[in-house]
Amino acid sequence: MFRRVAIIGGGAAAATLLGELLERRSPQPLHLDWYTGGGTLARGVAYGTRSERHLLNVRAASMSMFAGKPRGFLDFVQRDDPAIAGTDFLPRRRYGDYLEAEVAHALEQGRTHGHDVNVIPFAVDALVPERDGVTVIHGEESHQVDAAVLALGTLPARALSGVSAAALASGRYVVDPWKLLATASMDPPPQKVVVIGLGLTAVDVLLELSAQWPQTEFTALSRHGLLPEAHLHAAAAPVGDSAELIEAMHDAPDIRRWLHLLREAIAQDHTTDWRTIIDSLRPHTPGLWRELPGEQRARFLRHARWAWERARHRMPPQVREMMASLEQSGRLRRQRGRMQSVELVDDALQLTLAPSHTGQPQTLSADLVIQTTGLDTDVRRTNDRLVSQLLTNAHILPDPLGLGVLASPDGHLLHGGRLHDGQHQDGSYWPHLFALGSLLRGTLWESTAMPEIRQQARHLADQLLAH
Ligand SMILES: Cc1cc2nc3c(=O)[nH]c(=O)nc-3n(C[C@H](O)[C@H](O)[C@H](O)COP(=O)(O)OP(=O)(O)OC[C@H]3O[C@@H](n4cnc5c(N)ncnc54)[C@H](O)[C@@H]3O)c2cc1C
Repeated sequence: MFRRVAIIGGGAAAATLLGELLERRSPQPLHLDWYTGGGTLARGVAYGTRSERHLLNVRAASMSMFAGKPRGFLDFVQRDDPAIAGTDFLPRRRYGDYLEAEVAHALEQGRTHGHDVNVIPFAVDALVPERDGVTVIHGEESHQVDAAVLALGTLPARALSGVSAAALASGRYVVDPWKLLATASMDPPPQKVVVIGLGLTAVDVLLELSAQWPQTEFTALSRHGLLPEAHLHAAAAPVGDSAELIEAMHDAPDIRRWLHLLREAIAQDHTTDWRTIIDSLRPHTPGLWRELPGEQRARFLRHARWAWERARHRMPPQVREMMASLEQSGRLRRQRGRMQSVELVDDALQLTLAPSHTGQPQTLSADLVIQTTGLDTDVRRTNDRLVSQLLTNAHILPDPLGLGVLASPDGHLLHGGRLHDGQHQDGSYWPHLFALGSLLRGTLWESTAMPEIRQQARHLADQLLAH
């Protein structure tokens, strides 16, 4: 087994791996260095929100941190309120409480099992993988470990291209909506706000700010102008195993064919809700994605991603109702279009949209523009210090479609060249450098939510201890 392991990242993925490792009685005690990056422990962006309007988009019964304890989250919340049902969509803040409680429990259990955990509230600046271990560097300090795991979550938000330097400098263009929501103080509140993007992040932003700024009018801009689909109030009856559909998809790894098969399966099954059929693909998605050739993946990203994300990442029904009443009140307008540029004009921002099929240029004016374009996994374009250092030294390789890094399905990272001690090992998997969560999107596609992360964490803990 790897005796000394660095876990890098302070979010739910890192916390889950920590919990998996500490609850086990390994043959020898473990030494874990947990570099948390300095933010709120375990909650990360997703569960750091304090707003009761921000709900989980997964039902309570499916949100356990641990693959081996499927009722974990439900048991936690029912201790305070036995009336909560497994089908409920609960506030994400409550999930953050659960993560914190589980981390405290894991640390306690680790002590009982003789493990040693060093919680280091700093970001790692660099990693140097060598033959027998990895050197972890933060600030002036460096530490040697046997293995390291990257659980970095979402990359820092970047401004979209087309946003002028003056617009950025004005403070009226918000690149990171979560920072704005954490403070949300603008005095006086803006009159007109444009939100770029219409996924679940946009929904969170619109619900929160429309409540805090009751006089403000919002325009939400996206290529298709559509909100995410919504979950049903009650969980739909489970479908069979969709075995026929999945087999047919395996037989023809072609995105157009897959969409055809999926539409056909939905149209032919009159007893099952379409959501259930989409969800039944979830455990099979990594296997299917692996079989999809590169050009087909690119085609999916170009043409079908938006529709897939909209159907797959759904809002809870009560959130859909709140969004509908915001629209009915006239305070929210949805706009189809693609942002081409954002300029500062006088004291406001002017958005120019790409010409529509009628060739008419369109502009929007706003006091505040908020970018809510979702999860960024393109390591080639990030200014994240650690990721840049790893890429520059070819210690990791970028996914060619901007979906994280190249890795094996079980999380071993691929490197592109020389080892630090001069040996050449082109395109090999590191034996002791792993990733967990969003960085594995290019390998698994489904790799950002807790149901997938907890499986990855469990499997990774097995690997680290079995090595
Ligand atoms: C708004 C939102 C809502 C979501 N809702 C759900 C939901 O309802 N259900 C669900 O299953 N999933 C949901 N998700 C998906 C969510 O991404 C995962 O559930 C989970 O939070 C991912 O955790 P993570 O640890 O991978 O990433 P993060 O929570 O992003 O954590 C990454 C951590 O790594 C730290 N870090 C980064 N770089 C370094 C470094 N160099 N050194 C040390 N630390 C570093 C960061 O500071 C951060 O603490 C949601 C995501 C978002 C953004």
